[in-house]
Amino acid sequence: MSLAQVRRYPGQRDRRLRLRIGAGLMAVIGLLCIAVGLDEAFRRSGLPISPLTWMSVFVDALVPGFYIFALSSLRSRDELERLLAAAAEQDPLTGLPNRAGFKARAAASLDACRRSGQPATIAMLDIDRFKTINDGWGHGAGDEVLRGVAQAARDSVRATDVFARFGGEEFILLMVDVGPEDALPLVERIRAAMTRAVPHPGAPEHRVTISAGLAAIEGHDVPAIELAAKAADGGLYLAKEAGRNRAIVVSRERETSVLPERA
Ligand code: GH3
Ligand code: MG
Ligand code: MG
Repeated sequence: MSLAQVRRYPGQRDRRLRLRIGAGLMAVIGLLCIAVGLDEAFRRSGLPISPLTWMSVFVDALVPGFYIFALSSLRSRDELERLLAAAAEQDPLTGLPNRAGFKARAAASLDACRRSGQPATIAMLDIDRFKTINDGWGHGAGDEVLRGVAQAARDSVRATDVFARFGGEEFILLMVDVGPEDALPLVERIRAAMTRAVPHPGAPEHRVTISAGLAAIEGHDVPAIELAAKAADGGLYLAKEAGRNRAIVVSRERETSVLPERA
């Protein structure tokens, strides 16, 4: 169970709200009691008030003070939970959403897509022969390429797209309002931007290239995304088989549409 799910645990929000209201009420009641007590003390004995009265005011003040402290503790705990929930959905290396983050964002995007009745497409993208970078130039160089690829994609995906690190050197892209055929030029643009922007540690003999598979999302819920991701993964496999550095659309009508390798 992710932290985000823990936060959404049934009743958690209500319990926290009730606790807040209770603590707030107790703090207000406590302060009112002190004010009433002081008023009594002033009226009955006039100034100056005895040290004993001040001591009892101080003891009375402990009660609302405790509840005010409890309220501020609740607030900092909420902030910590918010930070942890955000970290649970983010890949620390690239700063992209991870798989859990993708699921949450994709579900929200698809919901908007369902309302507008537009199609949506999933693309799986994978860096070609990434292991040779790790093996040849070290994991530090590999990490640098991963960060570069993530940044290049961030700069070239549309604001409505959801792009995430799916795992290892594989990325997932949800494109709303486009079917796979119309999404293909967008993926081509992203692939080209990645190759252009990310230097290979063994350049100029080597280049960082990306293969991709695309498939339509048939539905507007999380299982539909998972099915489309599986189909797009099939397209990615075909792209690797066909020689890498290309994108392949897997569609119901036409099994595949292979894009010629870029020069
Ligand atoms: P292909 O073209 O078929 O995709 O080959 P590939 O070498 O890219 O794929 P393969 O699955 O053989 O190797 C992927 C490598 O990615 C293996 C793994 O050690 C490396 N890797 C996974 N995550 C990270 C990471 O966070 N940092 C680094 N540096 N390497 C990683
Ligand atoms: Mg790879
Ligand atoms: Mg891979």
